[in-house]
Amino acid sequence: MVIGVSGIQGDFREHKWMIEKLGIQTYVVRTPEDLEKVDGLIIPGGESTTMIRIMKRIGLFDALKEKILNGFPVYGTCAGLIVLAKEIENYPQESLGVIDIKVRRNAYGRQVDSFDEFIEIKGFDKPFKAIFIRAPRVEAWGEGVETLAFLDNHPVMLRQNNVLVTSFHPELTDDTRIHEYFVEMVKEYKK
Ligand code: GLN
Repeated sequence: MVIGVSGIQGDFREHKWMIEKLGIQTYVVRTPEDLEKVDGLIIPGGESTTMIRIMKRIGLFDALKEKILNGFPVYGTCAGLIVLAKEIENYPQESLGVIDIKVRRNAYGRQVDSFDEFIEIKGFDKPFKAIFIRAPRVEAWGEGVETLAFLDNHPVMLRQNNVLVTSFHPELTDDTRIHEYFVEMVKEYKK
């Protein structure tokens, strides 16, 4: 199994280390062709507008969308969540639209207002330290979307079939449980 990490922009190295800590091989994806070398993809935190713009320019946007619609597992954190969302409230721009959520960018405040909070996650036995950095807030979600964790009445971890998102950054902790959860999704897909 090889898990891809989108190296277009953002904190992809931290995700790479998390997956490697689990003893699983990683590959940094930078072209549409790279997608054929991996069994799943993580889209990191960073700057969603830049990510979307570059992905479109190099043809990764369309190639990835097509694969996700055919069951390819993806996990987006923070900016990655925005890239995968169906609707971005501020300011509207085309995103991959593969998870039925409406998001508001930077809704938890500015960079100086970044914070962390222990949250309960469905199926996890102990709380998870969630780090929020200029995080997007999920304002609405469709029926097909499973909410796995909440903070102040807004979901912060969600899944729709092969698409997993968190508005926080597990790659900045040493808690690998969410990455393990994603690895399980990739295993299922490979079967
Ligand atoms: N505010 C960023 C955006 O809108 C996301 C922040 C992050 O990924 N830490 O793209």
